[in-house]
Amino acid sequence: MSYSFWQTKRGSQKKYDVCIVGGGISGCSTAYWLKKEDPSLKIAVIEKGDLASGATGRNAGFVTSGSVEHFNRLVHLHGAQKAYEIWNYSEENLKLIKSEFSQDLNTIGFRQNGTFSLASDQQEMEELEETASLMRSFNIPVEELYSEQIKARLQAINFVGGIKYLTDAEVNPVQLTELILTKANIDFYPFSEVDSFEESSSGVQIKTQKNMFESELLVLATNAYLPLLSNYFDDKVFATKGQILVTEPTEMCMEAPCYAHFVLDYFRQLPTGHLLIGGFRQLEKETQVGYSDHTSEKIQLALADFIQNHLPKFSHLSIINRWAGIMGFSKDGQIFVGSLPGNSRVFFLGGFTAHGIGLAFHAGKSLVDVIYGRPVPDFISAKRF
Ligand SMILES: Cc1cc2nc3c(=O)[nH]c(=O)nc-3n(C[C@H](O)[C@H](O)[C@H](O)COP(=O)(O)OP(=O)(O)OC[C@H]3O[C@@H](n4cnc5c(N)ncnc54)[C@H](O)[C@@H]3O)c2cc1C
Repeated sequence: MSYSFWQTKRGSQKKYDVCIVGGGISGCSTAYWLKKEDPSLKIAVIEKGDLASGATGRNAGFVTSGSVEHFNRLVHLHGAQKAYEIWNYSEENLKLIKSEFSQDLNTIGFRQNGTFSLASDQQEMEELEETASLMRSFNIPVEELYSEQIKARLQAINFVGGIKYLTDAEVNPVQLTELILTKANIDFYPFSEVDSFEESSSGVQIKTQKNMFESELLVLATNAYLPLLSNYFDDKVFATKGQILVTEPTEMCMEAPCYAHFVLDYFRQLPTGHLLIGGFRQLEKETQVGYSDHTSEKIQLALADFIQNHLPKFSHLSIINRWAGIMGFSKDGQIFVGSLPGNSRVFFLGGFTAHGIGLAFHAGKSLVDVIYGRPVPDFISAKRF
């Protein structure tokens, strides 16, 4: 993009200790932990749209432990000890949200009733049973369920069985992000797309159409959009679309949020009684890659069919909202924090792989560890790539 002389003179040069690009949960969390580390820091979050206008404002609000795979697959991939550490890292995310915002949890739709993973066939049920047994060996609390219990507690049918992760939670992701930003108490620049950044002798220069920022350090917190700011991320994060629909509200009758079909599909009844359903990106693998956030008819139909096939109690409700959002999937399904090679002033975090609400608050804290030269677990370090 190019700008005229007149356009670039509208704003001014702004000086900060740290500029963070991206006003989603990862950018705001990084700002929060930086400010906590050193209250004297002058910090700006620069955002292309409004607060939480990316995936953070478009997700399902599950605050779940683990990653994109069932725990048994995590164990097969990484070995039991590392799988447990990965699990613990996300558990710690939830603990941090609860401890830092203990007085505010009732203002952000926070509920900690656990989450379910439901199996629609015997193969997945066997994986869930293996998952439950492995989790018990690490003293992670988990409950196994049969189809009658699923019907009674979730109003969901046509599932062979499932397990319940007892410590998981749910939240309004926009309210959580607003809270983090408010508590961080830093400068927020909405509707300011960063076009480019460049190192100078004194720091990093960051250009938006309206303003030029001069900063000691720069943090890139744009997750799926990281490759648009630096080609370093081209082979590290992949933009992947996720879709959701929401029905009109009805009486509360679902115990807690649920995943189905190997964590690909999910549903929950919001505290307001609305039913939210998302997933089915597996139906259109090619078109679900990239930055278009249009919904597709095929996936929206599959989401509506899911209600008919699995949630008949909700089948009479009108659909009142449909949307899509762009997730950033990493190469190995785990997040990464680090700094650009040969460039100690530019830091980043990303690769949340559909789990940023369950990971990003902790990841922001880990990025602050990287910035201050402290070690981070190797499974989140960008040095592993
Ligand atoms: C449909 C869907 C359902 C999901 N469900 C869940 C769930 O239930 N639980 C869960 O844990 N996770 C879920 N996720 C994933 C979760 O939303 C993300 O992992 C998380 O929001 C990532 O946060 P972020 O701040 O890193 O990225 P984003 O929220 O995408 O924020 C990046 C921000 O950077 C801004 N930006 C980009 N480029 C620029 C630029 N050049 N200049 C300035 N700003 C820029 C964008 O506008 C955006 O606001 C879901 C995602 C989707 C799409």
